[in-house]
Amino acid sequence: MRYTFKKLLQKEGWKENITISCDEDGVITEIVENSNDKGQQIDGIAFPGFQNAHSHSFQYAMCGLAEVHPVHTQDDFWSWRENMYHLALRLSPDDFETIATQLYYEMIRHGYTHVAEFHYLHHDISGNKYNNIAEMGERLISAAQKTGINITLIPIFYQKGGFGMPPTEKQKRFISFSEEDYLELFEKTAKATKKYKGANIALGIHSLRAVELPLVQLMANHWDYQNIPFHIHISEQLKEVNDCIDYTGKRPVEWMLDHVEMSQRFHLVHATHLTESEVKGIAQSGAHVVLCPSTEGNLGDGIFPLIDFQKSGGKWSIGTDSHIGLNPLEELRTLDYGQRLTSHKRNIFASDTTGNTGEFAIQMATLSGRKAMNDDSEEYFSVGSKLNAVVYYEKEKLAARKDEFIASTLVYSGDIRWNAGTIVNGRFYNPSHGEEHEEKFIKVLKKIM
Ligand SMILES: [Zn+2]
Repeated sequence: MRYTFKKLLQKEGWKENITISCDEDGVITEIVENSNDKGQQIDGIAFPGFQNAHSHSFQYAMCGLAEVHPVHTQDDFWSWRENMYHLALRLSPDDFETIATQLYYEMIRHGYTHVAEFHYLHHDISGNKYNNIAEMGERLISAAQKTGINITLIPIFYQKGGFGMPPTEKQKRFISFSEEDYLELFEKTAKATKKYKGANIALGIHSLRAVELPLVQLMANHWDYQNIPFHIHISEQLKEVNDCIDYTGKRPVEWMLDHVEMSQRFHLVHATHLTESEVKGIAQSGAHVVLCPSTEGNLGDGIFPLIDFQKSGGKWSIGTDSHIGLNPLEELRTLDYGQRLTSHKRNIFASDTTGNTGEFAIQMATLSGRKAMNDDSEEYFSVGSKLNAVVYYEKEKLAARKDEFIASTLVYSGDIRWNAGTIVNGRFYNPSHGEEHEEKFIKVLKKIM
């Protein structure tokens, strides 16, 4: 396969009339500038494909449903969670796969080429293991394979109902009671990822409140799997922080810094509520933070201290988590606007680096996001790595902009109408990719609600 782009963003800057060739697996074999050999002409501007570093695919089915309430009632994260549990208890493996398939098509449509699936809906509706303990994980791999997206599947260890508490009835589909239970789930799931070239595996713990703390330490630093990413929800809600202090005497991130040797393979999801020393501690450890601005806003989590984190050298990626929003550009601008609104400043992302806000945001979300997928590559496009790109039409404002303003125009005012297509592992998908699946998805939504 061979594609020519009018412009293409590399880490060091813009390139014109670039032709990229790749083999059957999507591995780039040649990159030629100002080439006459056109290949398949893609009339547009190419960016590296977006990395969606945090997803719970089934929650896509409930977008909007937790927004209608009786008058004068209060609602927060914990009441939202009741709605989510209600949904989780109803889905068959087929429903689950249908929802994930629709979601992954939508992700590709929005320019995501990779998703890290934080997967904890493991067992059947009675809480019993499926004959194949990795059944639900295999459904996610199948959804990814059908749509073409790359998936990093993270089978999540979920053991407790809260700090020192047994799991509740509503959590029965999530639970691995012991280390052995979880290991069996993990190893079967890891084996299943081998069936699809676009899949790989990572480790994950739901949160400190969900697994016995000695097991968190063991899993994080002493298991055999020290060469794959480790994901964990942390410090998302104030109640969780307070419960952690009551139980351990430490805040969640403080506990992690004291008890776990963190490094760049750790991906702390949300990390919303932090003290100054926790901010510095994460940055110094090399661990990444995964921010999910549209979901965090929707759930009323709070605002991550991004300005201080970046000043300490902290690295972050983005995820769409509950999928209330699926536009990566919106995630980036929402993240920035939270900071601007509370600091009364602009140029939040890049004030200490290049000053180019849009390019910085794309670089951080791309490179840190790749780490969440166990991909250490630093170049956006290079010979030997796979061709994953999102292409935007060179029209409207983008057609009029000088190079240095293109990324920021896109990040702050782009929407899906500008998406000309997404290339995943060398295959080009236009915006109507997967449209035929929608009817099936609607049927499932109507059935389960
Ligand atoms: Zn999450």
